[in-house]
Amino acid sequence: MSYTPVLLDGKALSKEIEESLKKRVANIIRQTGVVPVLATVLVGNDPSSEVYVKMKGNACERVGMKSLRIHLPEETTTAQLLATIDQLNNDKAVCGILLQHPVPSHINERACFDRITADKDVDGVTCNGFGRMAMNEPAFGSATPAGIIKLIKHYNLPVEGKHAVVVGRSPILGKPVAMMLLNENATVTICHSKTECLAEIVKRADIVVGAVGKPEFIKADWIKDNAIVIDAGYHAGGIGDIEINEVKDRTLAYTPVPGGVGPMTIATLIMQNVESAEMQLLRRAMYQSDTEKETEEITEAPALL
Ligand code: NAP
Repeated sequence: MSYTPVLLDGKALSKEIEESLKKRVANIIRQTGVVPVLATVLVGNDPSSEVYVKMKGNACERVGMKSLRIHLPEETTTAQLLATIDQLNNDKAVCGILLQHPVPSHINERACFDRITADKDVDGVTCNGFGRMAMNEPAFGSATPAGIIKLIKHYNLPVEGKHAVVVGRSPILGKPVAMMLLNENATVTICHSKTECLAEIVKRADIVVGAVGKPEFIKADWIKDNAIVIDAGYHAGGIGDIEINEVKDRTLAYTPVPGGVGPMTIATLIMQNVESAEMQLLRRAMYQSDTEKETEEITEAPALL
């Protein structure tokens, strides 16, 4: 039987998400008088990171939020970066903090990620956030994996009971996407640079996630017919981590590169900043109006007696 593979259009879905976020941001501003802020922190001069941070800041502004763009020099120390994060943690208008990975190697990146308070960890990078997500408790998921899961759910693809093979185990991508797929009841295998017989393992996958960071590392002939193929990689020239063009015609569904996982990462980050703003700003406004009402009731009470 012939079928048409589903192109998982992250670009189109991310546009839909942005449209819905514009309304939610307008509502926050109407109810609180505060424009929510996403703070982005970039350390050093990595050209790709500069582009990613700019794209995230622009997306934030497109939906009506402010982006506070902090660019620190290469020689920034861990103590200085921690102090910057502390300031942002204490700034009430800042609803989310994005610390762009990677920071220069002399900085303790893990300590800096973990300094971000849980309610502002909209990029899902803290150990605490990862642990809560893994335990299926409310938490902001790491943006790229959470974007992948949104894309899979949007297209109603079968995950429960399926064998998912994730190639890569980084803290921001491979590990969290494996946990998220497990939470969706997939049977998950995580592969990495020490995995033996990688091709044979990938050949058994109903769902393949490429998160290796090497151009077209996962070969088309490792992938069985009718698999769902998710390519999280991005390299110069619009190439991913999987030989996607060679395999896409015999998949059940696949992500294009570009236009698949990349736009979903940004949309997810922005959505999580809006959720954070709703939790922090709207809740504070409601609390204040309740307190004002109680104060009015107390001051009015004697007159009622
Ligand atoms: P990373 O931190 O470099 O991790 C790469 C992973 O691949 C590691 O776990 C590594 O294993 C594994 N690996 C390396 N060589 C391997 C081999 N020969 N066989 C099997 N596994 C191997 O990369 P990352 O940050 O997760 O990023 C992965 C890719 O996703 C990159 O292409 C990156 O550009 C892309 N990315 C895209 C977005 C987006 O928004 N679209 C966001 C983040 C990342 P070990 O742990 O054993 O070293």
